Amino acid sequence: MWNPLQQLIAKIHKNGGFVNAHAHFDRAYSVTPEEFIQPSGVNSHLFEKWQLVDKFKSHASVEIYYQHIAAALESQSEQGVQACLSFIDCDPVAEDRALEAAVKAKNYAKNHLKINFLIACQTLKGVLDPIARNWFEKSLEYVDIIGGLPGTDKGNEDKHLDILFKAAKESNKRVHVHVDQLNSALENETELLATKTMQWGLEGKVTAIHGISIAAHPLNKRKSIYKMCQDAGLSFVACPTAWIDSKRSETLSPTHNAITPLDELLENNICVAIGSDNICDIYKPFADGHMLTELRVLLEANHYYNIDELVNVATNNGLKVLGLA
Ligand SMILES: [Zn+2]
Repeated sequence: MWNPLQQLIAKIHKNGGFVNAHAHFDRAYSVTPEEFIQPSGVNSHLFEKWQLVDKFKSHASVEIYYQHIAAALESQSEQGVQACLSFIDCDPVAEDRALEAAVKAKNYAKNHLKINFLIACQTLKGVLDPIARNWFEKSLEYVDIIGGLPGTDKGNEDKHLDILFKAAKESNKRVHVHVDQLNSALENETELLATKTMQWGLEGKVTAIHGISIAAHPLNKRKSIYKMCQDAGLSFVACPTAWIDSKRSETLSPTHNAITPLDELLENNICVAIGSDNICDIYKPFADGHMLTELRVLLEANHYYNIDELVNVATNNGLKVLGLA
């Protein structure tokens, strides 16, 4: 009997295994029982959680961070993941403790788990505040990829990107940026990212993480976004379970699932990879970083059944956005 899921799994294995192109291993398994009962906890809005994680970050030593990162890597290894990229907090709260632990974990991943583990900086306190900027610049020497989160510099998203892209030009590193996370037609961050990418001459070197809000726009606007993405050589990482929980809203928009629009992006020859995003932390307490679950949710929520393309999303496209292929 033919089983498409088994065929998909076999082909991914034949291609060397999953590539997890986006994660936050430094905070993996950091959720606490208290965070399920406190008014400010697992049910808070994303923007509040950006601050709530300070509690864990301010107390975590290099050793604690290492334990969390190593545990996440071990779980990835058990699934046969061949390469992964984790954003790592380097800001005034975490300082460089998480980064130091992640650099140490690279050797463990390579020698003991046979995983190519790459690091990107997470700019959770923005890059415009002088102290935060200082930590961002300090991280550049140690990261494989420059990471960004323009939403943390609200109102100055363009300036946030200018700082990331200037660093990318100087270091010749790729850039991964969280954009359009809120499933709202009020967000236009993917367009901004594509525009800025072209302004800085970084075509083909920038990857958008999420891009959930794209699907909240009408078709004509989506077509114009895809054209800009093509011109900028923008690639994407979908983190399916991360945003499928997007809260119900009374705002009218084209019907869609809260997920990176894989079907339309691939139709437009835009590269899409897959990531787990948060694992068992205040953001996603039940997420276990299981890549096959992520792929299942991605293919089901997009009604996308092309097996060979799904294999690319799970493997080759990940290597591309990580700069490994
Ligand atoms: Zn993320």
